[in-house]
Amino acid sequence: MTALKPLIAGNWKMVGLPDDLGRFAEAMRAWGGTSRGDLLICPPATLIGAAVQAFNGLGIAVGGQDCHAKASGAHTGDIAAPMIAAAGGAFVIVGHSERRADHAETDAQVRAKAEAALAAGLTPIICIGEQLQQRQAGETLAVVEASLRASLPEGDLARLVIAYEPVWAIGTGLTANADQIAEVHAHLRQVLTSIHASGAQVKLLYGGSVKPGNAVEILSVADVNGVLVGGASLIAADFQAIAMAC
Ligand code: PEP
Repeated sequence: MTALKPLIAGNWKMVGLPDDLGRFAEAMRAWGGTSRGDLLICPPATLIGAAVQAFNGLGIAVGGQDCHAKASGAHTGDIAAPMIAAAGGAFVIVGHSERRADHAETDAQVRAKAEAALAAGLTPIICIGEQLQQRQAGETLAVVEASLRASLPEGDLARLVIAYEPVWAIGTGLTANADQIAEVHAHLRQVLTSIHASGAQVKLLYGGSVKPGNAVEILSVADVNGVLVGGASLIAADFQAIAMAC
């Protein structure tokens, strides 16, 4: 099988005003470096359209951070997948641990969101990961497998991206080590290919305190096909360094 092209994805979370986007885009435009990977920024929903314009010609795709399971309707404050697509977005993160924690999102809801994303022509990035106490209890593989199976849309998997994000490593400065990442990614790959042959084409991202200083090591782990970067993706120089690490 040909190697999967790495995806370097930034999640700006609930951070970023138009001026921040402008500064980031300017720094990316002035950047002399290149990446072997595809680049993606998921800004707050208010900046999706502006980001598409600001990144024009830079080869940086834009995505949402969440979408509703329905294509439209009476859901005040929510954003639907076709709206992200119409604004020029190509991806959407679903099931991020902060959404699961803040909004009590279940795997079944995450699956419905991923299906809505696919229906709108977006690539869903489905996030799964274990809590610290689950890792300490030796439950990591069982937890991520159960969450993966319950969050996956039916059928062909080729258009999906999965992000393994240990909850204890998100925004904490703690990262899973290379052996821990390799073990989980190998297991996820095996589960995905056992579900559908197209599971071999699913990009598996690692996320959890990825920084310029650890990106090379993480991106060289087997079956790591990219990274989902939170805090460090807000700093153009850090995002560039991570982009060059693959
Ligand atoms: C994330 O938001 O998905 C994430 C991994 O955050 P951080 O890189 O800040 O840990």
